[in-house]
Amino acid sequence: MKHTITVAKGDGIGPEITDAVLRILEAANCDLTYEHIDVGEKVYLSGNSSGIPSEAWDTLRRNSVFLKGPITTPQGSGYKSLNVTIRKTLGLFANVRPCRSYHPFVRTMHPDMDVVVVRENEEDLYAGIEHRQTTDVYQCLKVLSLPGTEKIIRYAFEYAHSNGRKKVTCLVKDNIMKLSDGMFSDMFRRVGKEYPGIQQEVQIIDIGTARVATQPSRYDVIVTLNLYGDIISDVTAELTGSVGMAGSANIGDRISMFEAIHGSAPDIAGQGIANPSAMLNAACMMLVHLGMPEKAEVIQNAWLKTLEDGIHPGDIFREGLSVKRAGTMAFADAVIERLGQKPAQLKSVEMKGGGVPKFHYERPVVKRELCGVDMFVCDDKSTPEELAARLQQAAHGMLKLKLITNRGVKVWPEGFPETFCTDHWRCRFVGPEVAIDDVKATYVPIGRKQVAQLLHLLGENGIEVIKTENLYLFDGVRGFSLGQGE
Ligand code: NAD
Repeated sequence: MKHTITVAKGDGIGPEITDAVLRILEAANCDLTYEHIDVGEKVYLSGNSSGIPSEAWDTLRRNSVFLKGPITTPQGSGYKSLNVTIRKTLGLFANVRPCRSYHPFVRTMHPDMDVVVVRENEEDLYAGIEHRQTTDVYQCLKVLSLPGTEKIIRYAFEYAHSNGRKKVTCLVKDNIMKLSDGMFSDMFRRVGKEYPGIQQEVQIIDIGTARVATQPSRYDVIVTLNLYGDIISDVTAELTGSVGMAGSANIGDRISMFEAIHGSAPDIAGQGIANPSAMLNAACMMLVHLGMPEKAEVIQNAWLKTLEDGIHPGDIFREGLSVKRAGTMAFADAVIERLGQKPAQLKSVEMKGGGVPKFHYERPVVKRELCGVDMFVCDDKSTPEELAARLQQAAHGMLKLKLITNRGVKVWPEGFPETFCTDHWRCRFVGPEVAIDDVKATYVPIGRKQVAQLLHLLGENGIEVIKTENLYLFDGVRGFSLGQGE
């Protein structure tokens, strides 16, 4: 069956590497037709701050498979990242980035490395919800959802299962972000029980990254949050020899996008020297996704044979190791010449489709009770004691001021004079009769009206509330973190 896919050549080296890849796909008789769209720098600079014309969305949604060259995001705060917009708008929840070594043909310090990073693609700090709240303080919200987390973790296990992978490692920072990252690692353990044949481990992202960088062969499939995954997949790609080698798949329930993990490399654009391998690997993942794994296999094997024969683009060319330095198109032609051949030493490829696991989210039934509110206050004059006195006087005993923190650290009651304070205070109010026991979280429910009344009272008394955050119990369990030192 002939598939129509959407293609955007992108910016910088994008057109060069995309042309090279399309030439290889054609030579391998892949049954594809292309609809080209313009996205990226040209569109941004024409005054469209999203980087994508509105009619392009129709093409993307109609064809459901998108091969995308890298995009340049112009400098300046007015431009939204097009990659993030496309991933989130089209529900491309899983970003799959395989990185393996091609030792001894491509220089790497880690000959046995073969890692697949499965990165959550829609949530986390990439939600793009940022505010400057006071003169001193900027905020970026980290948003994780139960369905988003369950989906990516199920995808990682299913990917491991269908690709014969042995282990899945979850990388998080749940020792610090106990509620959000803690939910991610809890979900990993819960879903993991359904895959008893796959080894499972949870690691803290900092030591995990250090170990990925120094002992990548310890890892097989990694599942992680958006930001950690972004960083760690660049580390893994670079370890294999060059960022010019790794492709990625952005998988959604209905629509998927395939791209190189690297950017538009403006420093080498227009010179015909870029390595098209990352884009080619992305295109092979696309062929598997389209149900043409045999075509992907033929192309991958020819590509591996090209690497074995020492025909290398500049980024992986090494004197004594490489035989011929090839430009982008010459490299593509070398791959085309080898279609039908298999590598002699490098493991030849058998590509299997992963498929998107059917996912049905059932929202858990929980009892949610309001038990307090954090009032975030801007104040550049008061000491913690003065602020507490003003707040208590204004609140008029309606809700009880429990604590004040500054950048998360308790400064009232009983703060330390050494704690540095900005103009941004989190002031926690709870019900007046509360008997606080944090093990059982015996906070007393309050009414929603009380929060509104408190906000009104604080405003009336000249206290500037810049944000409020309700405090809830979920089936009696605290749904908010304690202040440091609370
Ligand atoms: P980059 O990945 O474009 O380049 C980093 C370095 O790697 C450069 O030295 C470059 O020459 C080299 N390189 C990258 N791809 C190569 C290839 N195929 N062959 C040979 N060498 C290659 O990262 P950057 O310089 O930080 O970003 C440039 C632009 O790309 C920015 O505007 C950024 O926003 C954008 N970007 C886009 C994407 C995407 O579209 N998915 C991803 C990352 C960055």
